[in-house]
Amino acid sequence: MNCPACKNPMVILELNQVEIDYCTACKGIWLDNGELDLIFTNADQKEIAKSFSVKNDFDEIKRRCPNCKKKMDKVEFENTGIIIDKCVDDHGVWFDNGELKSILISAEEHNSRIIQMLKELFGE
Ligand SMILES: [Zn+2]
Ligand SMILES: [Zn+2]
Repeated sequence: MNCPACKNPMVILELNQVEIDYCTACKGIWLDNGELDLIFTNADQKEIAKSFSVKNDFDEIKRRCPNCKKKMDKVEFENTGIIIDKCVDDHGVWFDNGELKSILISAEEHNSRIIQMLKELFGE
């Protein structure tokens, strides 16, 4: 699968026993539908996945789903200003560099193992 942002081929990484597609060039992450739920392992965290609202007035360039090639929706995570791309047919979601971590932190994610893995992933 190619990166929806910079078109480089993505590599598959394992995060919390979930396989994710990662772009080494722009450090974005693609999660297939359902993988977000697998990463957020308890009920509170699962609510995170439902907290995305579509923002059509956002003027970032629309990216195409690496699976179906349709233009993805821009969705905002609650009112954090963090905007991610989500396939209109629910194939998955795209996080630019650091966005997944920001969401985990803003959701007061206390699973330090995941945070630690993300930090390693993003070289911080
Ligand atoms: Zn990329
Ligand atoms: Zn799609």
